[in-house]
Amino acid sequence: MPVCEFVNCLSGSRKNKALKQPTLHRFPKDEQYRHFWQLQAQAGFNPKPIKFDSAVVCSLHFAPYHYDYSKGVQRNARNLKAEAVPLK
Ligand SMILES: [Zn+2]
Repeated sequence: MPVCEFVNCLSGSRKNKALKQPTLHRFPKDEQYRHFWQLQAQAGFNPKPIKFDSAVVCSLHFAPYHYDYSKGVQRNARNLKAEAVPLK
């Protein structure tokens, strides 16, 4: 199972048992947004290449306004907006 790229993410941690399983989002295809996501995910720690084709960021780093609800909400299939950039 893919693991969130965020360096401090708790979603893959044992401390996370109380939290719900987050949704995993692939990196955007747009290079500029990929770069934004990478900056946020690595936060200056140990910069390393990310395999963008398989890397994911979990839903813990997104806020409700990052999602497009115009097509309705399906479980585990929330639609991220194209301009969404993950938070910390
Ligand atoms: Zn995460």
